[in-house]
Amino acid sequence: MSERQLIPAAHGAGLRLKRGDRLRVIDPEGGQSGDLFAFSADGSQRLSSGRTFDYGGKIYVSTGDVLWSDRSNPMLTIVSDDVGKHDLLYAPCSLEMYRKQYGVTGYHANCHDNLCGALREFGIEAAPLASAFNFFMDADVAPDGRLTFSPPRSRAGDSIVLRAEMDLAIALSACPASTCNGGAPPKPLAYEVI
Ligand SMILES: [Zn+2]
Repeated sequence: MSERQLIPAAHGAGLRLKRGDRLRVIDPEGGQSGDLFAFSADGSQRLSSGRTFDYGGKIYVSTGDVLWSDRSNPMLTIVSDDVGKHDLLYAPCSLEMYRKQYGVTGYHANCHDNLCGALREFGIEAAPLASAFNFFMDADVAPDGRLTFSPPRSRAGDSIVLRAEMDLAIALSACPASTCNGGAPPKPLAYEVI
């Protein structure tokens, strides 16, 4: 079991998992969502929301569900989940998104850069990234297709545990977008390999 690592608010982190390792991602303070992206260790396969929807037959995932790669192999299985609501629809927040939607002019911390930076340290050029696994992010689809956000359901200390189904390079980001986090300022996340 690894020591618990803190991901400072609005920052990212990278780690490698061996097949069979379990990654616990924790929300220490509650109400904070984050992004996870996975590549196979050799960089040849990446996480695919589309394949995950196809093989799972649903857009919401929780305990027992598998996150699939773009080459149709299981990457991660959710083995426990205190929160029960996550998102696989949205692309990671990016500098362009903050400029278009929030009128930000300078640099703004964002999950896209956090994730790509973490993966670059493993020699994986990830950009541009499509949809990530946005854990603890509570987005809903209305019958007419409109998307709505609710604050994350995670309470202080809640976690999700994912088992690696292949050797993986993982990137995590503590999302700085207040829209996804109930309007609160960015908070840290934490993880450990168990
Ligand atoms: Zn984000």
